Amino acid sequence: MHIGFLGLGNMGGPMARNLLKAGHQLSVFDLSPAALASLVEAGAQQAASPAAVAQAGVEVIISMLPAAAHVRQVYLGEDGLLSRVPANVLLIDCSTIDPMTAREVAAAAASKGNPMLDAPVSGGTGGAAAGTLTFMVGGKEADFRQAEPILAAMGKNIVHCGDSGNGQVAKVANNLLLGISMIGAAEAMSLGVALGMDAKVLAGVINSSSGRCWSSEIYNPFPEVVENSPASRGYSGGFGADLMLKDLGLASEAAKQTRQPIILGAVAQQLYQAFSLQGNGALDFSAIIKLYRQEH
Ligand code: NAD
Repeated sequence: MHIGFLGLGNMGGPMARNLLKAGHQLSVFDLSPAALASLVEAGAQQAASPAAVAQAGVEVIISMLPAAAHVRQVYLGEDGLLSRVPANVLLIDCSTIDPMTAREVAAAAASKGNPMLDAPVSGGTGGAAAGTLTFMVGGKEADFRQAEPILAAMGKNIVHCGDSGNGQVAKVANNLLLGISMIGAAEAMSLGVALGMDAKVLAGVINSSSGRCWSSEIYNPFPEVVENSPASRGYSGGFGADLMLKDLGLASEAAKQTRQPIILGAVAQQLYQAFSLQGNGALDFSAIIKLYRQEH
């Protein structure tokens, strides 16, 4: 299949490569010449703008952009996708953005005769490279069925979450819980160790008791508790604290729209914000435990 792909960064680059590996033909665009060159070298055709991707004869267009402003620009802007895309070309935005923008852009696409899905991912850059991402997809059932085999070349878990915007809703709700639960795990581990317990023994007790969660078991923020976790390699790699801060900001904006209280989410957002201000935004988000412990 001939597919258009926009946004070839840390996530989009490896995702596009997996589409090439699956035998698809790709027309690609990115503002970064280096990102473009790397995909062209891998076999993709370069396009000069989003509008040029739209006119390259593609059947499906996928985007993986930093934030809502970029999505608006690429789809709705002058020389944007919707200015030129032929009707019926399926549009799939995999960026993590707020559900309201996702719904607004999908409605604009529908008015031009283009079905659109929001399909944010979890699994990080490792999952993007390995083709094991989880896709949370919002949009019409028939459009989801059309997208499923294409997304399967980039991920292993593809979930239809309901109507337009619901993929973003699922992503925002999951990452809200993740941001909060990581702080909870950091707090409990730090308290236990400060009171004299061995970190590994404590984690073992928590993980076979009712406090167990992904943040305590798979991704424990205390160093040397989980082998190969970011905490055991100086909090490098993984999911950056600034990316968690971005996602908590999306949760906060979405909550405001519906007047839904997210009390612990607001506290978590402020903690990651303070942590980022201290220069830690590039560290894995589990490094938030540093707020609770003296540096050794
Ligand atoms: P990135 O900054 O590495 O890549 C974004 C790419 O988009 C860049 O190459 C940039 O040049 C390009 N771009 C920006 N504006 C553009 C425009 N107008 N036209 C064309 N290209 C444009 O970001 P990333 O890490 O790949 O993340 C992409 C999305 O995936 C974000 O929404 C992020 O929240 C989400 N996400 C990231 C991770 C992760 O671990 N990195 C995990 C899950 C979800």
